[in-house]
Amino acid sequence: VKKKASKYEKQAQPVKQTAVLGAGIMGGGIAYQSASKGTPILMKDIKDDAIELGLKEARKLFAKQVERKKLTTEQMAEKLTNIRPTLSYGDFGNVDLVVEAVVENPKVKDAVLTEVEGMVSENTILTSNTSTISINRLAQNLKRPENFCGMHFFNPVHRMPLVEVIRGEKTSDAAVAATVAYARAMGKTPIVVNDCPGFLVNRVLFPYFGGFSFLVEQGADFQHVDKVMEKFGWPMGPAYLLDVVGLDTAVHANEVMAEGFPDRMARDGKTAIQVMYDNDRLGQKNDKGFYAYE
Ligand code: NAD
Repeated sequence: VKKKASKYEKQAQPVKQTAVLGAGIMGGGIAYQSASKGTPILMKDIKDDAIELGLKEARKLFAKQVERKKLTTEQMAEKLTNIRPTLSYGDFGNVDLVVEAVVENPKVKDAVLTEVEGMVSENTILTSNTSTISINRLAQNLKRPENFCGMHFFNPVHRMPLVEVIRGEKTSDAAVAATVAYARAMGKTPIVVNDCPGFLVNRVLFPYFGGFSFLVEQGADFQHVDKVMEKFGWPMGPAYLLDVVGLDTAVHANEVMAEGFPDRMARDGKTAIQVMYDNDRLGQKNDKGFYAYE
């Protein structure tokens, strides 16, 4: 697969100006990573406080680099200017590539993708950071589906090396090439994968979350499961990972997986993950999930 990614890279048009839609956990992380590696990025959200949170997170990550003496304060200030927060599409005419990173809801994503398509140039590549929703499904309402593909980062963006570049039926080689090149420019390892709900990583990860949920529903102590999985060698257990991902995102993603693979992923009754979500325990984003955070 690596070979395939580098094959595409040779055909890539330069990606000089980018934009991310959504300044949440992922949007903020994508903006930081792009800015840190030197590609200017517009960060658009619909809420002022979301933009503030996204910027705060980026500042915190840059400050850590200063603390570790990897950056000077001047360099940090300069890199921060690569992130341009905005609530409007005003400057989207010059954007080469957009990463959509709004909530994991197909209807919201459809609305946002058709909206942004009307604001960018004919050659702009549109990508979605969806965790699970099929790229062919999201391409359905677009006028230029050939310019669209998945660009799936993992959380936390600054630490996770992999990016899945998902090729839809109508995606052009040029769109894949630009997305692969941007992922590399961000210091990531792109892999090109075919389209299906959950793509590659979440096809593996969500059944694992499902297995964890079953255990908890049958009375297992989630902290114990986490400890065991850490001993097994994973950097964190499933409960902590769900808190990092966000229980809301996990519930939405699970719905998409259940629709795509009803025989394997659909469940009767409420899962432990759903119960957490119903009780507003969203994980680290609101300081309470399986664990409590300060
Ligand atoms: P989040 O809830 O932290 O952030 C979503 C942001 O989108 C919010 O700030 C919200 O205000 C904004 N938003 C909503 N509608 C918008 C619009 N019309 N225009 C602009 N912004 C809008 O969610 P997240 O965890 O960052 O997830 C975003 C996407 O990334 C989802 O598709 C998710 O599946 C995917 N993803 C998440 C993870 C994860 O671990 N959380 C990992 C990989 C991919």
